[in-house]
Amino acid sequence: MVDIKDLRRRKMMSGPFSPRLLAAVRASLERGEQAILFQNRRGFAPMTECPVCGWVPKCPNCDVSLTHHRNAGVMSCHYCGYATNVPEQCPNCDSREIRGRGYGTEKIEDAIRSLLPEARVARMDLDTTRTRNAYGQLIGDFASGRTNLLIGTQMISKGLDFDKVSVVGILDADSMLNYPDFRAYEHAFTMMSQVSGRAGRKGRQGLVILQTKSPGLPVVSQIVHNDYEGFYHDLLTERRDFHYPPFYRLTYVYLKHRDDNTVNSAGLELGSRLREIFGTRVLGPDKPAVARVKTLCIRKIMLKLESGLDYALARQYLRGALATC
Ligand SMILES: [Zn+2]
Ligand SMILES: [Zn+2]
Repeated sequence: MVDIKDLRRRKMMSGPFSPRLLAAVRASLERGEQAILFQNRRGFAPMTECPVCGWVPKCPNCDVSLTHHRNAGVMSCHYCGYATNVPEQCPNCDSREIRGRGYGTEKIEDAIRSLLPEARVARMDLDTTRTRNAYGQLIGDFASGRTNLLIGTQMISKGLDFDKVSVVGILDADSMLNYPDFRAYEHAFTMMSQVSGRAGRKGRQGLVILQTKSPGLPVVSQIVHNDYEGFYHDLLTERRDFHYPPFYRLTYVYLKHRDDNTVNSAGLELGSRLREIFGTRVLGPDKPAVARVKTLCIRKIMLKLESGLDYALARQYLRGALATC
């Protein structure tokens, strides 16, 4: 585990790479072995930003900022597919320094190519595997040693066994852990364990380097020590205490409308109807993390129903409330 928050503060990071990771990858390639770098974000940068005034381009249809895709020269929305050219000038302050903030797989690729020019780099994500044969080609090239450094999203985490991979770098564990979903830790644990499993094959020990800004989180050390039992126990306790599955069944009701006021008042009304029936089992309405998608404003109501309840009856009540709203 490498604490990148501390390293960043001491200005010891080379872009997204800690000295430890960079040295390990370099040594691995020099020994004629291979390395994998895992970053679960495609594109060049998750955000586009004007560093002068802070302007951030947003999707006109959704409440998200646009992802920078430098190779294609566009910024795009990963929710609705909207894409537009990256402006040469900031529309707010006329600065010409518009740039991508954060690291997507494209930018990782650029960074590693300039730091390790002798590496034979390949990138595997949704953008490089759109054509029919691209996936097989990328895998084949890496398996045969034509390439020796593979950068990828979760696509690389499953079912790929390469004998010569001795180093796996997880560049940003926090982006997975901070995902706004109650299953974020579960998914992060699974994904990072699977990615880590790519290192070391046929009896040889591999090295996994996990970079994080939160080295103190119990889940991080559980991932590092492959402590599935401890992780499972903590997670289950939390799920029980906060009324989540498998102890409670969650039902989400989404309300969508072009007009935010309409969806807001409908949400409040439905919420209070449902509370008359289900009492404190009702949470919301709330705005979800992305509160507008494809021009529709969204509210979310959550029902937490304890196991053992008559779900068919609950569904009937729910439908009744929806019909009369
Ligand atoms: Zn600006
Ligand atoms: Zn969009």
